[in-house]
Amino acid sequence: MYIAHVLVEHSSHALDRSFTYLSKKPVKAGVRVSIFFNHQRIVGYILNVEYTSKTKEELEIEYGFRLAYINELIDEEPILNEELLSLAKSLSKATVSPLISCLQVMLPGNLKPKSVKRVAIKTLKAIRVISDEKAKTSKQNECLEILRSKDFFLHDVPYSRALISKLEEQGLIEIYDQEILRTPEVENVDSSEVLLTDSQKKVVEGILATKEESISLIHGVTGSGKTEVYIDLTRHILEQGKNVIMLVPEISLTPMMVKIFKSRFGNQVAILHSRLSAGEKYDEYRRITRKEVRIVVGARSAIFAPLEDIGLIIMDEEHDSSYKQENTPRYATLQVAKMRARTHKCRIVLGSATPLVESYARAKAGFYHLFELPERINKKPLPHVDIVNMEEETKAGNYGYMSQLMKSRLQETIDRGEQAILLLNKRGYASFIKCTDCQEVVKCPHCDVTLTYHKNEDRLKCHYCDFSMSVPRECPSCHSTHLKKIGYGTQRIEEYIQSHIVNAKVMRFDYDTTRNKNSHTKLLKAFRNKEANILVGTQMIAKGLDFENVTFVGVLSADLTLTLPDYRASERTFQLLTQVAGRSGRGEKSGSVVIQTYNPDHYAIALAAKHDYAHFYEKEMAYRKLANYPPYCHLLAIVVQSRSDAVVKRAATEIKYHLVKSLNDAQIIGPSEAGIFKMKDTYRERILVKYKDAKPVYRILESLNDFYNKKQNGKVSMVCDFHPYTL
Ligand code: ADP
Ligand code: ZN
Ligand code: ZN
Repeated sequence: MYIAHVLVEHSSHALDRSFTYLSKKPVKAGVRVSIFFNHQRIVGYILNVEYTSKTKEELEIEYGFRLAYINELIDEEPILNEELLSLAKSLSKATVSPLISCLQVMLPGNLKPKSVKRVAIKTLKAIRVISDEKAKTSKQNECLEILRSKDFFLHDVPYSRALISKLEEQGLIEIYDQEILRTPEVENVDSSEVLLTDSQKKVVEGILATKEESISLIHGVTGSGKTEVYIDLTRHILEQGKNVIMLVPEISLTPMMVKIFKSRFGNQVAILHSRLSAGEKYDEYRRITRKEVRIVVGARSAIFAPLEDIGLIIMDEEHDSSYKQENTPRYATLQVAKMRARTHKCRIVLGSATPLVESYARAKAGFYHLFELPERINKKPLPHVDIVNMEEETKAGNYGYMSQLMKSRLQETIDRGEQAILLLNKRGYASFIKCTDCQEVVKCPHCDVTLTYHKNEDRLKCHYCDFSMSVPRECPSCHSTHLKKIGYGTQRIEEYIQSHIVNAKVMRFDYDTTRNKNSHTKLLKAFRNKEANILVGTQMIAKGLDFENVTFVGVLSADLTLTLPDYRASERTFQLLTQVAGRSGRGEKSGSVVIQTYNPDHYAIALAAKHDYAHFYEKEMAYRKLANYPPYCHLLAIVVQSRSDAVVKRAATEIKYHLVKSLNDAQIIGPSEAGIFKMKDTYRERILVKYKDAKPVYRILESLNDFYNKKQNGKVSMVCDFHPYTL
């Protein structure tokens, strides 16, 4: 008899332990099983197995309760190797989240412990010759000769099915199922080898000379050729017989980097990102476990790729918010990278034009090796940036969305046959709908936010939950019919350009137009083929796009990120502006940029316009020091949630009391309502802990977690977010 300790799917800490099941057949740790739990058939994950000679009855007497058998084995082989299983355990501790959630996050969709779906393997009928004998007719022999020359799929053979059947009857050939791996389609780019410049070479040599397990930061301006540095480093590591994980931000950058890596390294590359179909993801995953690839290029979760002998982990655009997982387990990708680097004794390389000030501070303090690439390739100048004060624009009588300067630059760009990118970090048509009689705005019934008007569907939508509704004819509170659409989003700008710019062909690139699989690759391809001359988009367009014909970039409102109630608001604004400005003038022709703002003197805007990271870093560090924010302390956000606002307030106050009592050296702020107090019908209070020593923080969290998830019967839950990216 085998005793299996099985982890089950659940969301609560109270159940974050294994349960005992029996099996008469041998079972392995690391496979998924189907079991009955609380009268329901669910999926579990076997953590470990012991053999016993005792019977079920004897065991039940020993344990003091009834034991059940495992219903069914879902996998034949363990789905995680030992390194990854132990990584999941460390991650569970570090993020204070259930072990099962860590296993979930590591695996592709249909391998997740909760998934009952059998793995769909794609097969095609193929033919193999299994005899040296001759066939009966000359036509058949002719076919047989061809079949001997190479492997054929049944549908490719240039002979009739009847003839093939004859050969099969004579026992000369065999028809079998050949497994087909679905490799994601990657557009070919002409990416010929380049000779590294001296500065690029220095960076590569410098990094290769650092010790194993060390971290290097490449601070290189946009267009300084960081990608070629990554490629050359990768080549060196492959030559040393080791493998490479190349991480890129989610969504927009992935295809670009993927294309370049694919064109240089071909089949040695596997791709993992959220845009792949479940089948593609599963097949890429298996190509990695079967050791068919040596490089994995992907977004955040690719850090969990089951790659062995890792020699290097690269994180491009290391400042990007998508490196932080915003659901349980709330991990930072670098945190996981460090865990894997320790196991594999490999180096980590971070790259960015606008590193997080924490990263740059660590590099300056000598914890990371710092490499600078201060110039663009071929010393091409960075684009000239003009700032337009929108207050003066309105004073001069222009109430439109665009300043005179932006309009004329845009028109000139198009007239020259060149292209432009416009950034507006807000999707939809109008920000909200307001009653001009009672000033009431139409809000989401489930969240504390206004509903955004989308013109295409003529509906109001919530950007935080799935709620949508048709536009009301009258004000929900005073029944007036004077409803007005206020504010603007990408849809409205698209319309505005059509009527204000001559010969404009606009393409919109935001969440709404890129939801379908491959849609964003198609849009970018169309823009590259000049099917449009203006690309309007949200921050998705700021990252990594390299269009040589783009010579103008416009930012419609730099204030949208600046006014967020977040300690990173200035940093995020600086990053966004620098990144988007970097899209201009990357080709032969030089480029320009116009930034519209009501805060022209703010350091994040003024210094981004001058491409001056060094001074931005100084200013920002001074602010962080004054306000006591990272890197001057560690940050932990505790979010307390409940369906009742009274319950959540009481619980948060109580948690704060426990924290204050046990943490002497930490600064504890709050509780206060989280950015959006009510979201998806759940009320959220937040407590912020600023600390230096992590040990006592983990100790108190452990006891609080038990307290809140067991005693309160699930009415209140507590989520810990270490090193939150946004507040
Ligand atoms: P970054 O990632 O730093 O913004 P890229 O890697 O995209 O910069 O490089 C900018 C441009 O310079 C690209 O078009 C790239 O092909 C080109 N480039 C990079 N390195 C070289 C080189 N050594 N010689 C010639 N062109 C290069
Ligand atoms: Zn009203
Ligand atoms: Zn909502």
